[in-house]
Amino acid sequence: MKRLDGKVAIVTGGGTGIGRGISIALAGEGARVFLCGRRLDRIQKTAVDIQAAGGSAQALQADVSKEKDVERLARAVLDNIGRIDILVNNAGISAGGPLQELRVDEWDRVLEVNLRGPFLTTRAVLPVMRQQRAGHIINISSESGIEYYLQDAAYGVSKHALNDFGEFVQREVQDFNIRVNTICPGMVVTEMTADSSGLDHSKCLYPEDIADLAIWLLTRRENIKIGTPILIQTMLNPWE
Ligand code: NAD
Repeated sequence: MKRLDGKVAIVTGGGTGIGRGISIALAGEGARVFLCGRRLDRIQKTAVDIQAAGGSAQALQADVSKEKDVERLARAVLDNIGRIDILVNNAGISAGGPLQELRVDEWDRVLEVNLRGPFLTTRAVLPVMRQQRAGHIINISSESGIEYYLQDAAYGVSKHALNDFGEFVQREVQDFNIRVNTICPGMVVTEMTADSSGLDHSKCLYPEDIADLAIWLLTRRENIKIGTPILIQTMLNPWE
């Protein structure tokens, strides 16, 4: 008997990086994982890798910032299995640079993916989670959602707001036995950070570290509320 046997999970941005790591870990614990992302080849590849390791995974293409895509995603899972136990809001993008040079469309897109996305997915799963009187939502925020890094305003604002969004959702639905956790990772070696010059990968986190924390949170017994946001960093400064 695995710890998440019978659980149905949706992971956004599940094809690469942290989302891929969490998807593999969820499937390894027995969950049926629905990977969502914009790039079908990436989510299909992760789904095939999970299946090859004996897990259950299915790729469903969706852009989390699009209401119709998200509704279609939730409907597909519900039509297929009839329940949703876990939602991992992981999909995210960044746009850095001095504020006066940040384009309006870049600002809008970061907020659309990083904040509107989790709102749309959360809104789509809450009816069934409330009906089940059980559910767990994990938001992947960032250290940037706690600190105030220069030249990173759009991303930082989106993650600060995501932390608060998680708290609002938690307070609104905790009487329905729905838990919400927000994880704020430091530097993780993924596509997003691969080109960051001066980053010492040996001093970074890896997707598996975030997945370990997500699984730990998902396997606490009922009635345990872990305060958020949860910061996970490395002891050594990865920029030195
Ligand atoms: P990544 O680029 O590998 O993963 C992001 C995933 O989201 C990609 O698969 C991408 O295709 C998907 N995505 C982007 N826009 C989407 C959309 N509109 N709809 C659906 N999917 C979309 O990078 P990652 O580092 O694994 O990032 C995952 C999350 O972790 C992000 O929210 C990011 O902000 C956060 N994070 C990353 C780091 C880090 O150092 N890598 C640190 C803190 C937080």
